[in-house]
Amino acid sequence: MRAHETTGEGYERIDLYDAKSVARISGHYDDILKQIGEDPKREGLKKTPERVAKALQYLTHGYDLDPSAILKSALFKESYSQMVLVKDIEVYSLCEHHMLPFFGKAHVAYIPNGRITGLSKIPRVVDAYAPLAGAGAPHRPDPRLPARHP
Ligand SMILES: [Zn+2]
Repeated sequence: MRAHETTGEGYERIDLYDAKSVARISGHYDDILKQIGEDPKREGLKKTPERVAKALQYLTHGYDLDPSAILKSALFKESYSQMVLVKDIEVYSLCEHHMLPFFGKAHVAYIPNGRITGLSKIPRVVDAYAPLAGAGAPHRPDPRLPARHP
């Protein structure tokens, strides 16, 4: 679903959501509101299930990203062999035990081995590992991603 919205600030906002998924998740949140004693038809709650569904899609969007493909899309030969550090990457996610949102900063460092990747690719790789985050290792270790990338 493409939702076009004029922001009044000189640009058009385009949001991309999976309409079927939004509809299914919205239905569950309609039930959840009833279960906690709310009236989902109440003025302030009318669009809440849909907003929650879209927020969940936004916060968990990394599932459709392939970290290895992201890195390989911008690899450059480089003899530089000092550590490359990308700091203060914004991370938004949900904790895997309660699905409560949290945010923070990630720092990624690597030592080039003949090639470097575009700096803008590193935050996208962090996105790919952040959908439902646990306290330990990445929740979805990717065996295709070498420990020390090419
Ligand atoms: Zn938790």
